[in-house]
Amino acid sequence: MTVLPNSLHARDVAYHFHPYTNARRHERVGPMIIERGAGIHVYDDQGREYIEAMAGLWSVGVGFGEGRLVEAAARQMSRLPYYHTFTHKAHEPSILLAERLVRLSPEGLDHVFFTNSGSEANDTVVKLVWYYNNALGRSAKKTFIARQGGYHGITVAAASLTGLPTNQRGFDLPLPFVRHVTCPHAYRHARAGESEEAFADRLAAELEAVILEEGPETVAAFIGEPLMGAGGVLPPPRTYWEKVQAVCRRHDVLVVADEVITGFGRLGTLFACEHYGIRPDMMVVSKQITSSYQPLAAVLFSDAIYQGLADHSEAIGNFGHGFTGSGHPVATAVALENLAIIEERGLVANAARSGARLQQALAPFAEHPLVGEVRGVGLIAAVEIVADKASRAKFDPPGRVAFHLFERAQAHGLIVRAIQDTVAFCPPMIITQAEVDELVARFALALEETAAWVGAGMPA
Ligand code: PMP
Repeated sequence: MTVLPNSLHARDVAYHFHPYTNARRHERVGPMIIERGAGIHVYDDQGREYIEAMAGLWSVGVGFGEGRLVEAAARQMSRLPYYHTFTHKAHEPSILLAERLVRLSPEGLDHVFFTNSGSEANDTVVKLVWYYNNALGRSAKKTFIARQGGYHGITVAAASLTGLPTNQRGFDLPLPFVRHVTCPHAYRHARAGESEEAFADRLAAELEAVILEEGPETVAAFIGEPLMGAGGVLPPPRTYWEKVQAVCRRHDVLVVADEVITGFGRLGTLFACEHYGIRPDMMVVSKQITSSYQPLAAVLFSDAIYQGLADHSEAIGNFGHGFTGSGHPVATAVALENLAIIEERGLVANAARSGARLQQALAPFAEHPLVGEVRGVGLIAAVEIVADKASRAKFDPPGRVAFHLFERAQAHGLIVRAIQDTVAFCPPMIITQAEVDELVARFALALEETAAWVGAGMPA
């Protein structure tokens, strides 16, 4: 494409420093400008159509161009475009959404704190847990345990919880309040011949050993995504969660479920906690709460935690935490409408149905010479590329082949995500089974072309 000096492309390169983008490469290749969306599709400024098989960033559950969300935002904008929730102020949408979330969420989560993003929500988790333990006079109980491969965001505390080198390298992170334990992904981390259950036993034993080594009086919480997303779509081994929870309960360590990707139906259940039998003390939600039409996240927590926070804030005079946008009226109004759409249209059941189709249609790729593992639950899935199926060896350099596959997919009108050697799928929850078939057909073309390219010696 010829880039005119005053084009949007040129201005983007000149002025816009992008998140999660190699700036030097961006100078060479420029932006892909998306102009509009409808249903599961988005369209770029050249008029090309794509199946958005990542729902944006794992988040546009109801699909693009949903008029009801536009109207909900416009109604709230005209009535009350902004008001805060500090110092006893409130407005209807934030109240109704807090109540709705408590009613919908797993048992034992009774109170809600709003933030603008998942990262802010996880920073809030850390601060609430510290504040709570200070309230209980347990000032040493502050360490968090998270997992390698976990993703909890990129603000300073959240990026410390995240267990991916790319979010820490160059940023002087993680902060020392976090310990990371083994990633619960059997394909890469189970030992030869180890059963799923035995792997889960080993992970639970490792967690307990870390808690004992640190001293249970210093370990405050364990945080995990029920199914890891950004780390490569990694479902945990069977029995993992029940074993990990038992260890946490034994040592009075809070369990925090990060449902930022999985919340509101992604796995075919309203929350992944239901799918895995997790009874969290705290839960974080975002993304599909508004289908990302507005930025919003929430931290839900138990009444026991609430009582500690409330007592402590009274004792020390105030609760000194909150965002200008906490419970933003437009974002919470959009969330209420979005949750109503998910319920009325049966999108959780649709995610289960179309998800089953997706898993079924991807499963045969496990036989492909380039594919090491196909995995997923409901409407989230991944295909991991390997150089050698038997040894599971990766291509050198890692990620190059998956990136090529991602580019070929895009050329065939399919937006997926390349995560190192893995290609991820997380389409809008409105996707039909016929659209799943079309998505998989485009992927199959891209995989064949990638195999041919590898066969030709991966020419530059
Ligand atoms: N937690 C999880 C599980 C996530 O997937 C993400 C975002 N992908 C976050 C937290 C951070 O959310 P945000 O990008 O809104 O800060």
